[in-house]
Amino acid sequence: MTWSFEIGRLFGSTVRVHVTFFLLLFWIGAAAYVENGQAAAIDSLLFILALFACVVAHEYGHALTARRYGIVTRDITLLPIGGMARLERMPEKPGQEILVALAGPAVNIVIWAVLALVFGARASLDDLSVMSPETVSFAARLASVNLFLALFNLLPAFPMDGGRVLRAVVTIFTDRVQATRIAAAAGQVMAFLLGFLGLASGNPLLLLIAFFVYMAAGAESSEVQLRALARNMLARDAMITHFESLAPSDSLHAANMALIHTTQAEFPVLHADGTLAGFLTRNAIFAADKAEHKPLSISEIMQPAGLTLPLTARLTDALDALYAENTAAVGITGPNGAMIGFITRENIGELMVISGR
Ligand SMILES: [Zn+2]
Repeated sequence: MTWSFEIGRLFGSTVRVHVTFFLLLFWIGAAAYVENGQAAAIDSLLFILALFACVVAHEYGHALTARRYGIVTRDITLLPIGGMARLERMPEKPGQEILVALAGPAVNIVIWAVLALVFGARASLDDLSVMSPETVSFAARLASVNLFLALFNLLPAFPMDGGRVLRAVVTIFTDRVQATRIAAAAGQVMAFLLGFLGLASGNPLLLLIAFFVYMAAGAESSEVQLRALARNMLARDAMITHFESLAPSDSLHAANMALIHTTQAEFPVLHADGTLAGFLTRNAIFAADKAEHKPLSISEIMQPAGLTLPLTARLTDALDALYAENTAAVGITGPNGAMIGFITRENIGELMVISGR
């Protein structure tokens, strides 16, 4: 995600904050200051920070449960509308998906219970709209929003966690693509209801959430369709077979020439025996052109080859490798180990367009 920066690492995942989150902090602090003065502004800011700590805890609920099934969470990003954990993939076994989905809201339920037991904080959903520092204690407000977060996320519609539970349950009766369509349709209906509620009550925040829910529900559906299509195809159906390659000992000048004479954005770098040494990206060539210290050969600036796949590998394996290793391209090797083609994100995208998904 662009426009976000790293604030630290926790349990093996990077925590990032989107710049608009600071706009939210500023807006809430300023509004409280104008209305009730400095003490109220500080109270509001502390409350928002505590709330987002709960959101991060919710996302770690998902991330740490997913890790039990061997799924890595690359990063967790804080947005003004909540958090987003970027899991490498979702578990495809329905039972695992349900547990990963429920772990987030479960964290908020635990926080709510602790606040209620330790601080005697009484959570009330009626209070959410009239919660003000003068009438409701800090702990009670935090308890209320945690209860709200848990219930909101349990709505059975994408992209809420409850939508994943719904999909996993529907998967028992039909295939995953159909189940995703149903959960996504539920999400879009939910978005209209929220939007209507936002208009009726004149609440701009609800309208924003409705818009987000609508967009995210659609995105989830197309991601699953892409995977379903990829599952029925082999790596060799999608690989690029017409390409220029370079050798590890080639100069930067040779790379520049290759860049000009082709439309490629990634160049396979091959050893003399045809095996893959790595990939040289257009961006790496541009960066080297601008750098003061020029590389002696392109082997210094190429991305070393990670995983390569055989011709008979499934296209989903290539997708997984592209995302998991965050690499520019995946090499496909023939029976003798020589690279005969490669797959990039862009050419999978083209394949999807051609297949008319
Ligand atoms: Zn969640």
